[in-house]
Amino acid sequence: MSKDIFEEMLNQRTDNDLFNTANHAGQTYLNEIIQREVYPTDEAVAALEVFAEPLADHGIAAEEVLEMLHTFGSAATVATQSGRYFGFVTGGALPVSLAARILGDYWDQNPALYVCSPTIATLESTCEAWLRELLKLPQNVVAGFVTGSSVAIFCGLAAGRYRLLNNLGWDVSQKGLYSAPRLRVIAPKVVHGTVLKAVSLLGLGHDSIEWLECDSEGRVLTEQLPIIDQRCLVILQAGNVCSGCYDDFQAIIPLAKAAGAWVHVDGAFGLWAAASETLQSLTVGMTEADSFSMDGHKSLNLPYDNGIVLCADKEALLVAMHNSGSYAEPSNDRDSMLYGPEMSRRGRAVDLWAALKYLGKEGVATLILRLHTTAVKIADGLRSRGFNIVNDVVFNQVLVACDSDELTELALEHLQSSGDVWLGGALWNDQKVMRISVCSWMTTQADIEITLKAFVKALDKASQ
Ligand SMILES: *Cc1c(COP(=O)(O)O)cnc(C)c1O
Repeated sequence: MSKDIFEEMLNQRTDNDLFNTANHAGQTYLNEIIQREVYPTDEAVAALEVFAEPLADHGIAAEEVLEMLHTFGSAATVATQSGRYFGFVTGGALPVSLAARILGDYWDQNPALYVCSPTIATLESTCEAWLRELLKLPQNVVAGFVTGSSVAIFCGLAAGRYRLLNNLGWDVSQKGLYSAPRLRVIAPKVVHGTVLKAVSLLGLGHDSIEWLECDSEGRVLTEQLPIIDQRCLVILQAGNVCSGCYDDFQAIIPLAKAAGAWVHVDGAFGLWAAASETLQSLTVGMTEADSFSMDGHKSLNLPYDNGIVLCADKEALLVAMHNSGSYAEPSNDRDSMLYGPEMSRRGRAVDLWAALKYLGKEGVATLILRLHTTAVKIADGLRSRGFNIVNDVVFNQVLVACDSDELTELALEHLQSSGDVWLGGALWNDQKVMRISVCSWMTTQADIEITLKAFVKALDKASQ
């Protein structure tokens, strides 16, 4: 070996060049990305080929490692850190959260057990209490900090599976599912795909799902609910991924609870509406559910890897996420591995704590409401320019159609290659739609205007 990497790495820790390089590249990126095409150019994507190389026998200088990432990686990123990315449901990143995360990365803490990181355990406890307050959830609700809503849904349904079977005299943690009483999964027809993932991971199988009919917005038709009993895991939505609609919690949850069912609310981006006085009418009655899944990395604009499971039945969640080992005895303090499927992981709560501390209740409410008002402005602007808005813009989602499916598809292609904006498409009530998700704090009035112009230009091109 030609160089002593251990000595070199000790030097890297003490002279700050490497970290300064990373910070400088990151800051340059943030400044430049606002001007760049929202979707990377074909050339930038093709240049990613440089990463498809065999692992070399010998490494390269650390500075060169960063340079390669920045030169090729940064150039081909999708500009989600700009104000005109409306694809899927993708938040930006609040500067304070991003900066706090960078500091937290220096710490490299593992929150598995309190003893591994009192700092992260304390931040998690604080965030748990703050979330209850912000979302007006009961005092018995606990929080687990997971990768995203996919895993949060899995955790909520795992807790429900444990509780329902336990009520029926069956300990699923011990005995498994092979001879267990059969559970029923009750879900809206327009449920998010990650619910299906969770249902299959939990061994319940897609065949156990009884689909609920929905209205044209995607809300469960309460008058067509099946008979709910104590074997039912009921899944409802606070923010459908296309239309943004909310189920009628007030009508459904009391009925399900009275029957002994478990209710899970998928509120990946929409649960945050509960933090805004103007929008909280959407979530009335929601707080009586048993479990909730949400993302910090969507509406709250934390960096990625910030999902949250909230559960009113602490015992069910902890038993379902069961983790033990003679070297890893839980303490009387918060041992994070008990609240989710992972043992070792990043100290995610740093990002969340920083955002909530910076924004306060008022700031969170303002951020959430801004997503809505921006979506309404875009919808109104498009309507007045001859586009059809096919959903009720109750929160941040806008579904746009042209006069035919063909025109919609063509216009979307032009928009996607324009570089001015990026958004995806979907099929909604058998109609092709363009799907705008306003989920970033960065979308300004100027961005709205550029977006409206881009739509008009794309429709013109499509109509030729
Ligand atoms: C994004 C989303 C999910 C999945 O969340 P991830 O953070 O991507 O795992 C689930 N449900 C809804 C409604 C979503 O918008």
